Amino acid sequence: MKKDIHPEYKQAKIKCACGFEMEVGSTKPDIRVEICSQCHPFFTGKQKLVDTAGRIERFRRKYEKFQQQQSAK
Ligand SMILES: [Zn+2]
Repeated sequence: MKKDIHPEYKQAKIKCACGFEMEVGSTKPDIRVEICSQCHPFFTGKQKLVDTAGRIERFRRKYEKFQQQQSAK
């Protein structure tokens, strides 16, 4: 039997952008996620997202422009 053939399996923390932390068994020490089961609208039923890079705001502006173009016709 070879020793050290398996990566070390330890407790890791998943840290979400919303602040939620969860302990899991993983080979990686820390995992950062932007969305988790605690803040995803599917689970919370709320439209409350952690906008990490202004992506939602950009999308909204783009969508508004699109709607204006549509109504201008
Ligand atoms: Zn979260």
